[in-house]
Amino acid sequence: MSCAPGRNRTYDLHIRLSAVGWPVVAGDLRPVGGRDYPRTYQEFRSWFTDEWACREYLAELRWPHGFSCPDCGSGDCWRTGTGLWMCSGCGLKTSVTAGTLFHRSHTPLSTWFAAIWFVTSQKNGVSARGLQEALGFGSYETAWAWLHKLRRAMVRPARELLSGVVELDQSFLGGRSHGKPGGASKKAPITIAVERLASGRLGRVRLDLAEVPNAMDQVEFAAEVIAPGTEIHTDGALVFTRLSDHGFTHRPTPGYLANDLDAVMPGPHLVSSLLKRWTAGTLHHRISRQHLPYYLDEFTFRFNRRTSRARGLLFYRLLQQAADTDPHPLSELIGGTGSDWDEPRDD
Ligand SMILES: [Zn+2]
Repeated sequence: MSCAPGRNRTYDLHIRLSAVGWPVVAGDLRPVGGRDYPRTYQEFRSWFTDEWACREYLAELRWPHGFSCPDCGSGDCWRTGTGLWMCSGCGLKTSVTAGTLFHRSHTPLSTWFAAIWFVTSQKNGVSARGLQEALGFGSYETAWAWLHKLRRAMVRPARELLSGVVELDQSFLGGRSHGKPGGASKKAPITIAVERLASGRLGRVRLDLAEVPNAMDQVEFAAEVIAPGTEIHTDGALVFTRLSDHGFTHRPTPGYLANDLDAVMPGPHLVSSLLKRWTAGTLHHRISRQHLPYYLDEFTFRFNRRTSRARGLLFYRLLQQAADTDPHPLSELIGGTGSDWDEPRDD
């Protein structure tokens, strides 16, 4: 018996070819709606009718060039009756979810697929309460944990660097104290790097929660996420003079324009407005600083795909990235506090 993922579905003609080891042509990598990902909820329902269908689809995303043993790297394998992959080289039995975001989840994959469809098909995402209601989860905490797991997959570890012309600035987010005087009332400084395309439109964004405002970590962040040689526009703060140390061409705002920074740095200003609107609308402001970086990842995931009219493509990308993301057990998600649920539990 071959170990190529199952193939008696109409949708996987293209997938079928790569599964049997045909060379993947670069131009063929672009996923196509209706073939590689479902275009509508109706298609979603008809493709993923059971665990088997979900498992085979996930296997295609995880091993697009065919099975590869996580232990010895062999590509030869057998399928077991319980849907595992058994390596012919070393005998290791592995499931398609082992070592992925779905590692040791006792919930059926079909429920995970439904959650991912729900999260990606809503333009602004969904709150934990919304997900709980949509999927009928018994507990709010389960929905909260699922969303946080999915956020861990929203920004690729090996993501591409920003390039061309980038506007770099810092903004402030939040500052609600949860009713506690002197509580988490400090506003969070968010470093925003956004591409300005030749067309004048905005390109991709990267966001970072800074420790303190106006500090050197803005420059370090730029060095991490922007390609050397990029032209970076800033408000001309002193710290940005260090950008040239990293091979960037720094274009500070001329002093005579410094009083109208929104006009000079419109990209970060717009991103900041959208971020504030999103956290206020979908999340009701209630984000703890501890979890904020992952909400920034979700915002980035959505912003960078905002022009995609194919919501199914977002489903495909998030599932693909989840298959390529390490497990994140609940204890890690809540940072050991056990009670830091950061969205409202009553509305
Ligand atoms: Zn092996």
